[in-house]
Amino acid sequence: MIGEVVKYSEEEKNLVDDYTQRQNIQSNDWSDKKFEAIKSSIKSHYKEVQEYTCPYCKVKYPVKHGMAWDIEHIIPKDKKPQFMFEPLNLCVSCKDCNGAKGNEEVLVNKNRKTFPSASKDYKLVHPHFDQYEKHINAITPGDFYRPLSKKGEFTIITCRLLRFYGVVDREQPDIEIDELAKAMISSDGAARRVLEDELVKRIKLKREEAL
Ligand SMILES: [Zn+2]
Repeated sequence: MIGEVVKYSEEEKNLVDDYTQRQNIQSNDWSDKKFEAIKSSIKSHYKEVQEYTCPYCKVKYPVKHGMAWDIEHIIPKDKKPQFMFEPLNLCVSCKDCNGAKGNEEVLVNKNRKTFPSASKDYKLVHPHFDQYEKHINAITPGDFYRPLSKKGEFTIITCRLLRFYGVVDREQPDIEIDELAKAMISSDGAARRVLEDELVKRIKLKREEAL
């Protein structure tokens, strides 16, 4: 869980308030030049407090320059532009997770008007409201994840955590492994263990082939 939310300066606060009170707010306002400074404070704040760790895949990217990181809107700004600057809707994530998650609906009730501030409002393991370890076991961060709850399953699928860094080309995921991973996630008990064993076997094989 991220301990500390970004605190806006007086100036930043006024900018955000002025903006959110406007009539027509749209997600692409995010690229407006006037938000450049505030975006950079958001990014550096969360990079620091998250200790350069992506909240979804738990991979640590100890890269100081901004390029490795995306500002992540937990509820996508295309879905709810009104929460674009809400500190609890913001964090940083790696580009892979951010790209995979895209505009996926993460809310239990998508018609929600006020900012949902409880864990149960989200289908996803929330970087601010949920304890990751209760929902996902990152067996090898960047490689293999085991869901421990429904939220864990949803997050693994939505952020495509089973994309197997270093095993398969990130741009061209291995369809077979991907399908197997999805089947594993949606099964349980003995069936899951069988699929999991098979999956681990195939990943190892892939790795050996790659060497
Ligand atoms: Zn990530």
